[in-house]
Amino acid sequence: MSRDYDVAVVGGGLLGSAIAWGLGRLGKSVAVLDEGDITKRASRANFALVWVQSKGLGMPAYTVWTVQASQAWGRLASELKQQTGLDVSLQQNGGFHLTLGDDEFGQRTELVKRMHNQVGAADYKMEMLPASEVKKALPLIGPEVSGGSYCPLDGHVNSLRTFRAFHTGLKLFGVDYFPERPVSAISRRGGEFRLTTEQGEVRAGKVVLAAGNANQTLAPMVGLSAPMGPTRGQIVVTERTMPFLPHPLTTIRQTDEGTVMIGDSKEESTDPTGLTIGVSATEAERAVRQFPLLASVNVVRTWSAIRVMTQDGFPIYDESESHPGAFVLCCHSGVTLCANHALTVAPMIARGALDQSLVAPFSARRFHVQAAG
Ligand SMILES: Cc1cc2nc3c(=O)[nH]c(=O)nc-3n(C[C@H](O)[C@H](O)[C@H](O)COP(=O)(O)OP(=O)(O)OC[C@H]3O[C@@H](n4cnc5c(N)ncnc54)[C@H](O)[C@@H]3O)c2cc1C
Repeated sequence: MSRDYDVAVVGGGLLGSAIAWGLGRLGKSVAVLDEGDITKRASRANFALVWVQSKGLGMPAYTVWTVQASQAWGRLASELKQQTGLDVSLQQNGGFHLTLGDDEFGQRTELVKRMHNQVGAADYKMEMLPASEVKKALPLIGPEVSGGSYCPLDGHVNSLRTFRAFHTGLKLFGVDYFPERPVSAISRRGGEFRLTTEQGEVRAGKVVLAAGNANQTLAPMVGLSAPMGPTRGQIVVTERTMPFLPHPLTTIRQTDEGTVMIGDSKEESTDPTGLTIGVSATEAERAVRQFPLLASVNVVRTWSAIRVMTQDGFPIYDESESHPGAFVLCCHSGVTLCANHALTVAPMIARGALDQSLVAPFSARRFHVQAAG
């Protein structure tokens, strides 16, 4: 455990794994220090959308970042397949957000307009469609569906297999993954970082904090900040059923294995062990109104998980001025943004500095300005 590494990545969820994989791909020596299996990990419990529509209202740079990720995903999926033999089942043929009744249709139309009107936002190509048009793509929608928004850049993936592919790839690149190694302290001495774990110290030239919501505690150790505001989400999963859903929806998708995932709520509670049955019931009830055939499909699983969420909902990508070589990264939408983390952010870290185009919008300094105001 006292070996020196080019980079130590704290956190082995999707974000830390994507960064470590991207660094391993560039020939860097990397250690990933992760907690144990019973810790809270969004990466094992998400909805697996590679999603563009409606992301970035209030921060146009985030729309650009999300579109870039969506466009880079194909390359990531094919590199992972080539390296590991694992097919992550990426499907990117466009996604829908369906509305029930006229009020919801009106509200969604308003949101689409606001997205389009943002100065500096990427062109999502998101459009509102009446129910008759939606029906051409999704013939089994119910009579209450009033229409919905469609974005051709949206898609989904098998996110657990993606996670596995990253970890398989890490091994092949010679990256050292250490489970059960929570980092309790980080200091910088003699031009290198020293990370304290119960099993000993790890030394590295650079350190990347990718510990999800725990970044809030770790970031100040290296002169950074990560103000977090986690929320909980619940997902309902059905038994396998016949293929009926050729496009993913914001809240319903049919997996490559045939099950149907329904979700995902946003709750203030951050208890990952609990489930609110009323929330699952509401999710299921809305899904049945959107696709009546779901009424006869059995639910086989349901779970809740804690989202990695910054206080304003947008990602944080930052580097330390007081501790050069220390970076903090956190985001919701870690599935969508995988390709950017592996193919764009990792090379920046390998070079030793994040590009200004990334730091300017996404630095946590935006919270300091808000606080001072
Ligand atoms: C219900 C739900 C649905 C979602 N749906 C989608 C979706 O459809 N599309 C999408 O793009 N995203 C979605 N997300 C978000 C996505 O899952 C997350 O953005 C992503 O998993 C975050 O990955 P992470 O690695 O940052 O965090 P995590 O998965 O939380 O991993 C952080 C890791 O850091 C470790 N750690 C913590 N503290 C320490 C420490 N001191 N030392 C060492 N290790 C530490 C933890 O053990 C953990 O393994 C969803 C999330 C939820 C909860």
